[in-house]
Amino acid sequence: MTEQNLKDILWGKRIFVTGGAGYIGSHVVLALGETGCEVMTFDNLSTGHRHAVLHGDFCRGDLAEREQLLAAIKGFRPDAVIHFAAAIEVGESVANPLKYYRNNTANALNLLEAMGECGVGLMLFSSTAAVYGNPERIPVDESAQLAPINPYGASKMMTERLLADLASADSAFRYTALRYFNVAGADPMVRIGQDYANPTHLITRALKTALGQFPKLEIFGSDYPTADGTCIRDYIHVADLAAAHLAAVAGLLLGRGAEVFNCGYGHGFSVREVVEVAKQVTGIDFPVEMAPRRAGDPAELVADSQRIRSALGWQPQYDSLTEIVRTAWEWEKKLVSRADSVHEQG
Ligand code: UDP
Repeated sequence: MTEQNLKDILWGKRIFVTGGAGYIGSHVVLALGETGCEVMTFDNLSTGHRHAVLHGDFCRGDLAEREQLLAAIKGFRPDAVIHFAAAIEVGESVANPLKYYRNNTANALNLLEAMGECGVGLMLFSSTAAVYGNPERIPVDESAQLAPINPYGASKMMTERLLADLASADSAFRYTALRYFNVAGADPMVRIGQDYANPTHLITRALKTALGQFPKLEIFGSDYPTADGTCIRDYIHVADLAAAHLAAVAGLLLGRGAEVFNCGYGHGFSVREVVEVAKQVTGIDFPVEMAPRRAGDPAELVADSQRIRSALGWQPQYDSLTEIVRTAWEWEKKLVSRADSVHEQG
């Protein structure tokens, strides 16, 4: 799909985005705005920020509050829903599984019921590579067995199943699920980026350590069956992921459905390699320490992403770990200068 085709399909379409104030959601809202979509972000701001929503309308609301959700969807009359709102930390999901089944599974059910009541039949769902667990073959393609090894992956797998069952039962309902690999980086124009109160992701932790916000970066496990003993992940730039969403929602509007797509580049980097790139990009030799494995981490997750490339014509523009880390670094520095100016004004 060319950029012009996308604009022709998406222009004026009404998209309801749950979790649109979060990291990935806010980048997609921005990209939807640039194609001329009307957007309503629905977000409880538990981890997202109102100021990250740079396009469309905003409704502060919670998917657990069914009446509020129903009123928001009824009032907006969307053509399609993109469902980001979720809890996303593997380690936390092991410690607090019920939070994950509540947020990621039960709340998705609420959303589907509300969509049904309002006659909205299209959903683009944020799924995850964690549904694969420890895949038998790397790179992993979409036909691999789903065998999550943590509650995060299991909670998303259950929602994928919900979507598939509903699509089989109801011809008016169509969905696409995108299985994200490791999303990182920031808007190339540095307008938005990742901004969690308690960041746990590797690249963000490394960069905040470089800035002195954490005393050291811990590498969780050096005895995995990989070349250097640390876990391997397929890091995808958030702007490329946003482009995948535009292509996928356009596909839904054109009549596609019941599809799942891996979103990754098809090559992986170990934790040690990521740390080296973070040191090169920042020019700072920040402290790094070996630590025990983190519960729930698979050794290696790398996408076979042929399907999304051929089915939706998705072509990544930022397939470079250096570029991912560089944009994330620009964003981290901007967060610091913003905090400094707030401090000075206050
Ligand atoms: N990781 C690490 N130190 C950190 C954060 C993460 O060694 O401070 C490792 C983590 O154990 C995993 C990889 O980095 O092997 C990617 O973790 P992240 O939390 O970024 O994403 P996930 O793969 O869990 O979605």
